[in-house]
Amino acid sequence: VKHSESIKKDKQVQFLHQKILVNKEIFYTMSKTIGILGGGQLARMLALAAHPLGIRTRCIDPSPDCPAAQVTECGCFAFDDVEGISRYFSGIDVLTFEFENVPVETVKALAGQYEVRPSEYALEVTQNRIREKEFCKGIGVPVPGFVSAESMTALLAKPEALFFPSVLKRTTGGYDGKGQWRLDSIDDLVALSSSSKSFEVIMEEFVPFDAEYSCIGVRSRDGDMAFYSICENVHVKGILFETVSPPEHDTEGMCDILCSYTRKIADELNYVGVIAVEYFQKDKKFYFNEFAPRVHNTGHWTIEGAATSQFENHIRACAGLPLGSTSSIGHSLMYNLLGTKGDVDALMSCASLHYHWYGKSVITDRRKVGHVTQMFSSHDQLEALRNRLGALVT
Ligand code: AMP
Repeated sequence: VKHSESIKKDKQVQFLHQKILVNKEIFYTMSKTIGILGGGQLARMLALAAHPLGIRTRCIDPSPDCPAAQVTECGCFAFDDVEGISRYFSGIDVLTFEFENVPVETVKALAGQYEVRPSEYALEVTQNRIREKEFCKGIGVPVPGFVSAESMTALLAKPEALFFPSVLKRTTGGYDGKGQWRLDSIDDLVALSSSSKSFEVIMEEFVPFDAEYSCIGVRSRDGDMAFYSICENVHVKGILFETVSPPEHDTEGMCDILCSYTRKIADELNYVGVIAVEYFQKDKKFYFNEFAPRVHNTGHWTIEGAATSQFENHIRACAGLPLGSTSSIGHSLMYNLLGTKGDVDALMSCASLHYHWYGKSVITDRRKVGHVTQMFSSHDQLEALRNRLGALVT
């Protein structure tokens, strides 16, 4: 009896040892710290999504009262202060970014110390509109016709290559419609050229699109990819105002086409994390507009409208965890709050509406300060919802 009891004890000890080992492994996976370059609303929502997983976040932002600082640790550094950022991020496991205009030199310098997800290559491609368009064209993703030049003066020197109507864009640094101009004739270009500083430009064909869509996907470290339901977007003065998912206007085969283009881009970049690609649709054709190497405004509805939000899935992909389901829960209608809190009482009284406020200290005209997501069950309800909410969010 004694002998069998001691065997039993040995087994118990072995079992406990195994358990401790397994728990250690779990501890190391779940206690990762993700460093985020940028402390805006996207970093705030990433940090909030990381909390339930036990994953820590730490951000960098030049502004001490940035939106993310209210929900996670935040270091106040300029984005080119590699030494300061490196000191503050000491001990993190993975580095990511919440906006694409963070200097690529900073990310490259930090890439030697931490895993960067998505890679600095993805950032480099998207930071330059010419490189981005050439990249997509090169892998067979259709783009609007374009011509580039080192300045508007240089562009004017090749009149045979110009086309109108067109959209002229700064090659680097533009966002939310900033740094771009619609041109109807060469006179517009001459006028703009004489009133602007010199910078590199890309002239794109103006696409008289029927609709704008975005395709948001998430790619794991192993190359698995999952896609959210396609988003149909409305921009006002170059800034996103409304997103509906699933889309109201669904061209036959659209989902397969947009997901296959997005997968091509992500595979070619060996991408890890959430990627958002914007497309124009004209008749039955789709054209790439731009991609964001990060979580995206058109995917905010996924917080309540999908089984796993884009924020949680980005955190999961960065941490090397399995991806969560991207399935939708019903229909979602998202409005940005642009420079206004909207009619808070009325909005919060709407059934199935979720109100998000980013806690920005400075509210300027048309700045993204929050958003609302209205859940609904059928596109038949859209017109009535638009009429009601459109007035409450402006
Ligand atoms: P972007 O910063 O390139 O995403 O442009 C902002 C918005 O401007 C887009 O969402 C479109 O509504 C519009 N836009 C940009 N490029 C074009 C284009 N080539 N043709 C028509 N509209 C455009």
